[in-house]
Amino acid sequence: MTSSTDSFTIAPGDWLGMLGGGQLGRMFCHAAQSLGYRVAVLDPDADGPAAVVADHHIQAAYDDAAGLAELARTCRAVTTEFENVPADSLRALAAQCRVSPAGDAVAIVQDRIAEKMFIASQGISVAPYVAIRTPQDLLDAPDTLFPGILKVARLGYDGKGQARVTTREAAQAAFAEFDGVPCVLEALMPLDYEISVVLARGFDGSDVVFPVARNLHLDGILAVSTVAAVDSDPGHVQRQNQATEAARAIARGLDYHGVLCVEFFVLTDGSLVVNEIAPRPHNSGHYTIDACVSSQFEQQARVMAGLPLGSTALLAPAIMLNILGDIWFEPGASAPREPDWSTALAVPSAKLHLYAKHEARRGRKMGHVTIVAATLDQARMDAAQVAAALGMAAPD
Ligand code: ATP
Ligand code: MG
Repeated sequence: MTSSTDSFTIAPGDWLGMLGGGQLGRMFCHAAQSLGYRVAVLDPDADGPAAVVADHHIQAAYDDAAGLAELARTCRAVTTEFENVPADSLRALAAQCRVSPAGDAVAIVQDRIAEKMFIASQGISVAPYVAIRTPQDLLDAPDTLFPGILKVARLGYDGKGQARVTTREAAQAAFAEFDGVPCVLEALMPLDYEISVVLARGFDGSDVVFPVARNLHLDGILAVSTVAAVDSDPGHVQRQNQATEAARAIARGLDYHGVLCVEFFVLTDGSLVVNEIAPRPHNSGHYTIDACVSSQFEQQARVMAGLPLGSTALLAPAIMLNILGDIWFEPGASAPREPDWSTALAVPSAKLHLYAKHEARRGRKMGHVTIVAATLDQARMDAAQVAAALGMAAPD
């Protein structure tokens, strides 16, 4: 719960802390440093994307008591960029400094079973599902969940730890393949399209919501996010408003402080169901860096510092293309080569962000490019040019 100690302001010049050292941490560092803060990053890797830009790097495991104690001593407030951070680490830090989001909120979101129960308890729809803890649970699962997707309850990301299963037998094989760890079996939904809502909620309960992004996933990984200035389809607008209110209700229900993303499916019958919640800035919110007054990462710093939240207004239509390690590899080639950045950046509306990962691997998120243009049609044409220059599939 919010207490009076949560209302103080941390002035620029002071230290903010980040648990996790990936690209989300790196972009947080940039935003917090631009506000004048210094950032300490706790991450086990020697030279991860965030550690190399942080003002101080504590190289330690996420549950290392000495590392956490140093982070709490150094920083007035700590956040995370990594939803699988041990909730107990956040709880331990909370005894010594301001922590957002709270360990209790993260604990719910990082377990698909607890997460779905929580969302449903708020009166918001999720895909039909059952928790699978034993082989018997699979035998008892209703036929209506097939075809479905078996997802490990914890530690999955980018489509990993998931198996599409058309039959009960296939689900049993997949459950064994996942070593029998707790899972959810959810029905494969008839998706029309996918949207996400990123919001920031302060310690005073105020919130700001970013424009809704429409997302295309390929092979279970986000590929493209599109954000229009105005949507002339009243059905789209109605669903955006419904999604926005559902995301705000979820944040309130979690007593959440920080930046949060809720991913939704829009089904072919027009109804909306929540896919999942991310307790941190999200890949589908990267467009906010270049296309909004205040980015999702700046809002994360503002919440931590107890500053007023910034405007989420969209400055222009935007399309974000994820850059995966695949584009380092020409078809058939085994050795990587550098993508043609010059040709991509010859498109003047393109803003390139690379995360300084040393090794390009297929399926690995290496960076993103955001196209910001006067109209969505112009953004689409420019995005197609950037995609062609980088050897990526053209966004639709
Ligand atoms: P990420 O970390 O990128 O969010 P994840 O590993 O948590 O991914 P999900 O978000 O559960 O995976 O699923 C990834 C994608 O797979 C979804 O965005 C959607 O395109 C598809 N998908 C997942 N569940 C379903 C479902 N029940 N019905 C239809 N499609 C689904
Ligand atoms: Mg997801």
